[in-house]
Amino acid sequence: MRLLLVEDDRLLGDALHAGLTRTGYAVDWVRDGEAASTSLADGGLDTYAAVVLDLGLPKRDGLEVLRSLRRRSLALPVLILTARDTIEDRIRGLDAGADDYLVKPFDLGELTARLRALVRRANGRPLPMIEIQGVALDPAAHTVRVDGTPVELSAKEFALLHVLMLNAGRVLSRTQLEQQLYSWDAEVGSNTVEVYIHHLRRKLGRDLIRTIRGVGYLIGQAPT
Ligand code: CA
Repeated sequence: MRLLLVEDDRLLGDALHAGLTRTGYAVDWVRDGEAASTSLADGGLDTYAAVVLDLGLPKRDGLEVLRSLRRRSLALPVLILTARDTIEDRIRGLDAGADDYLVKPFDLGELTARLRALVRRANGRPLPMIEIQGVALDPAAHTVRVDGTPVELSAKEFALLHVLMLNAGRVLSRTQLEQQLYSWDAEVGSNTVEVYIHHLRRKLGRDLIRTIRGVGYLIGQAPT
């Protein structure tokens, strides 16, 4: 799952990038408002699961970035992360289209919990656990069980399964999966997704993930 992190403070940005990456996110980090808007142009809307947005930014204020994003996309979850902590600031941020608001200093555990909540709501899933065909995935605990038995997955296998399960009923192409799994700075091999799908089938059974020839991969029933 890929995040856009918009933060101009180098120390905080570094810590967030490291912390969110450790949690299993692929993180693209930009340091000013213009770069944020560029990242969110066109392709960005399908690429990111959520945006973590600072407000006090060089070149373009975070609220402006948010307003221009909301003119094009209502769906992409945005969490504002800022030192502006008056009640008026929070109201302005939420009214500009933010989905959540966290004031610095904050706890990384709370940030990631809020992101999980935003992502599942954006995908129309009120429940924290996702369960399909006997496979149960817990995004908070990072665990997967098949018919109640825990299965060990690597971080990337888990991320791939999570994206497919969140999008159950939708066919995702290899390119779409790569975009959601890898940040800009990651090296992606040409058959990486196929390899992970292969591993997942070996560990979870062959029937969960279906290949739709020439289109991509699917969990659950395809729309008819
Ligand atoms: Ca700032």
